[in-house]
Amino acid sequence: MLFDRHQRPLQDLRISVTDRCNFRCTYCMPLDQYDWIARAQILSYEEIDRLVGIFAPLGVRKLRITGGEPLLRKDLEELVGMLAAIDGIEDLCLTTNGSLLAETAEALQRAGLNRVTVSIDSFDRATFARIAQRDRVASVFAGIAAAKEAGLAPIKLNTVVERGVNDHEILDLLDYAIEQGFEIRFIEYMDVGNVNQWTSDKLLSKREILERIAVRHDFQPLRGRGSAPSQRYRLSGGQGTFGVIASVTEPFCGACTRARLTADGRLVTCLFSTYGHDLKSMLRSGASDAELRARIKSIWTGRTDRYSEQRLAAISSTDGYDPEAVHKLEMISLGG
Ligand code: SAM
Ligand code: SF4
Ligand code: SF4
Repeated sequence: MLFDRHQRPLQDLRISVTDRCNFRCTYCMPLDQYDWIARAQILSYEEIDRLVGIFAPLGVRKLRITGGEPLLRKDLEELVGMLAAIDGIEDLCLTTNGSLLAETAEALQRAGLNRVTVSIDSFDRATFARIAQRDRVASVFAGIAAAKEAGLAPIKLNTVVERGVNDHEILDLLDYAIEQGFEIRFIEYMDVGNVNQWTSDKLLSKREILERIAVRHDFQPLRGRGSAPSQRYRLSGGQGTFGVIASVTEPFCGACTRARLTADGRLVTCLFSTYGHDLKSMLRSGASDAELRARIKSIWTGRTDRYSEQRLAAISSTDGYDPEAVHKLEMISLGG
């Protein structure tokens, strides 16, 4: 196993397969124009496969395919098939906005995908369209149904909670998840990227989210969170579980075992990083596996990231926290 400077092992790899998206969620990539990655710079499936084959013996057990919207990448099941065959990979999942899942779920499952996480922020057509800037809520629910039908279980749902926008739907979304047998995770609104206009008053904290849920449900925290970002709760009466991802108010940097690979082949060691380490140039200039392994090792063993802990300290300090003080990589290239 490979440990960083804070003794955190490298165990998970999030692979962004594209920076393009068919939504424009206001909390993620609200603009229509970005400096999109040129097609020639995007890693091929063979290049991703080769890199993952190097990451796995270093300790990576869990892969998450993400984006942008990963289902915009053509023939994604081919990549899934390649990654599923790599020795040592125990969990292969996909995070998606769900809008293209109805057409792809079955092929992805057949290729070896274990499970999906679908982002859904609202039931309501108008609220959904206000957040995603696209009128696509029906296609997302059709996608979730198709994933269930295809057996891509356990299905998880991600809901970013924004005060005054969708916080009134927490209980209804939770009830839907319980009824369907899914685990929903409510996510504190984070200041990712540089353009989502984050302010602390848009954030509904974990404490407030739990207070809203307690109005209708009894629940108990589950122990044994490991390196998972989500604090999980068991609902009484065997109704299921739900989670809260409290990146802002209860950061979990101490247990962060995740690395990220951008669609253009940069290795990023934190969601709030300002740059990534270029592996693509090495891949394309004939570097050997041993050279790539040595580069990855030196990046991870030098890692000191703990941005969310530092942000919390700044929020609590007299100087306060300025989300624009550093120019971060955009979420679309990191995949969450
Ligand atoms: N397009 C896919 C999707 O939406 O699921 C995958 C990529 S998206 C960047 C991954 C996750 O990041 C989504 O669940 C999304 O809700 C979450 N996310 C994006 N911006 C966020 C923010 N500002 N705060 C918290 N979570 C965010
Ligand atoms: Fe696209 Fe996902 Fe970001 Fe929404 S959260 S804009 S669906 S990448
Ligand atoms: Fe990991 Fe960075 Fe998030 Fe901390 S802020 S949990 S180090 S990705």
